[in-house]
Amino acid sequence: MGAPRTTEVAGGVHFVEGEHVNWTLLVEGGALTLVDSGYPGDFPALRESVERLGFRLGDIAAVLLTHAHVDHIGGLPALLSEVSAPVYATAPEAAHARREFLQQATPWDIVSNAWRPGFLPWTLYLLRAGALKPVKVPSAQEFPTPLDVPGSPVPVPTPGHTSGHCAYHLPGSGAVITGDTLVTAHPTSRVDGPQLLRPFFSHDQAATVAALDTLAGLDASVILPGHGPVVRQPIADAAQHARNLL
Ligand SMILES: [Zn+2]
Repeated sequence: MGAPRTTEVAGGVHFVEGEHVNWTLLVEGGALTLVDSGYPGDFPALRESVERLGFRLGDIAAVLLTHAHVDHIGGLPALLSEVSAPVYATAPEAAHARREFLQQATPWDIVSNAWRPGFLPWTLYLLRAGALKPVKVPSAQEFPTPLDVPGSPVPVPTPGHTSGHCAYHLPGSGAVITGDTLVTAHPTSRVDGPQLLRPFFSHDQAATVAALDTLAGLDASVILPGHGPVVRQPIADAAQHARNLL
């Protein structure tokens, strides 16, 4: 797996781009919140991203999930074998992370799209990254109230891509972690910029489109997607851009 690229997009907000999926580290004082965790094969890069900031994995005070697809929770079994940190998500997404059910594109969905530009190299990457490993996080639980973790992220439920998908607003920095509700590039997409993933990646695409309105209502202009680079643009404009592509 490639080395991660880390950008401090706002004070204490470190956006990490793995080879094909992103995660975010929120720094406050001597502690971290980790939002998402890459593929299983991204774990060395996840460790590197923490250590490059001068921290150790044990400094992660909490893990938040946008959603429980393997490319967002894949690093957690290895992480949680070394350190103990609570893993929080919305109630339905915590159940998804515990694998009480699975809402993910099947290998057949991928293979039947293999003729599309970009799919074949990406599929080969998935095999290397451990995407077919059965990954679950038995300790995943619903957010406590209030959610008091480093960086003070505010959960913004955006169901659709999965039933319990959640974005995180960072009001102090004008940033929003959009997960897979709004991405800015993907190996299977021919365009760059704010967009939705292809429908077969999402459990309920109509709900995902509706969730764009939720994002558009936030006061944020630093967009941190699950896939693709950071985009600096008012989130309402980015959501409209994604709608215009439908
Ligand atoms: Zn996803």
